[in-house]
Amino acid sequence: MARWYYYPGEESNVLEKLRNRIFRKPVPDFPKTILIETQFGCNAGCVFCQYPQIKDDLPRGRMTNATFEKIAKECAGRGVERFILALDNEPLMDGGIVEKYKLLQRHCPDAKRNLTSNGSLFTDKKIEELLGSGAVNEVFLSINGYTKETYEALMKLPFEKSMEAIERFCAYLRANPQVRRNLDIAVKVVNTKKVQPELEKMREKWERQEGFRFLVLDMDNRGDQLDMGQESVLAAEEMKPNTTCRRPFHTLVLSWEGYAVICCVDYMREVKLGNVHEQSVYEIWNGPYFTKMRQEYLAADFTNLKPCRTCKINN
Ligand code: SF4
Repeated sequence: MARWYYYPGEESNVLEKLRNRIFRKPVPDFPKTILIETQFGCNAGCVFCQYPQIKDDLPRGRMTNATFEKIAKECAGRGVERFILALDNEPLMDGGIVEKYKLLQRHCPDAKRNLTSNGSLFTDKKIEELLGSGAVNEVFLSINGYTKETYEALMKLPFEKSMEAIERFCAYLRANPQVRRNLDIAVKVVNTKKVQPELEKMREKWERQEGFRFLVLDMDNRGDQLDMGQESVLAAEEMKPNTTCRRPFHTLVLSWEGYAVICCVDYMREVKLGNVHEQSVYEIWNGPYFTKMRQEYLAADFTNLKPCRTCKINN
């Protein structure tokens, strides 16, 4: 099994030590990426996402600013490269989202403060507050489809309204080149069979016309928790077991209740690694339980890693 990370000192022979030094990275002592679900809830119903299936089963709520600031403060100067304020949520639905990005800007000025959004709720005011202040310095737009038919089948959002809101964002950037210069923007699309015939047109629009990066993402079966019976959810390529995953080795995922979970796929909070209300980020990341889970993953032992056991991806 290909592995991308290792724990120094755990090698059983010289060859393994050598292989680790050349091909792998040591597990960092602090997460490089932190995903924070600031509040539960999304206005879309993407067929390749678990949210529509679980939205009535999980508790709803919002992380307080005090908890959020505790996390941001602890991360100051710790080398976190990127914060993404999204999990089972559309960040623009959180009325306090601007303040949260500003807290990150204050405490972690060197990090990428990423807004991952479907963009359908962009208003002029929100765009100015988030981008004009520099609080957000990276935007990933989730857009699945070039045509109305595909977009609505995949995302369950009204096409015209969403495109209008996204055009508002594009117009703002055209009118504010100084903001645009400091912003990294990508359009992301999940590689489903349904969207595949439209990828070239999407690339033309978003990459060549708007100058955004255009990224086609591998699709995963969300630890086999996704209803793969839906026709439009079919992956563009055959899915294979995801046994070389890097996520738990560089990313910490926090739910709005403060739970750290194994990855963004673990929406049922099945592998809880700690809680920021009781522990620091450092304690959770380096704690005996998270360390044990990573060691088991590296040993391809998925007994305690329920979502990983059945996780498949189409790369
Ligand atoms: S469920 Fe496990 S294998 Fe799948 S993406 Fe998450 S951490 Fe990786």
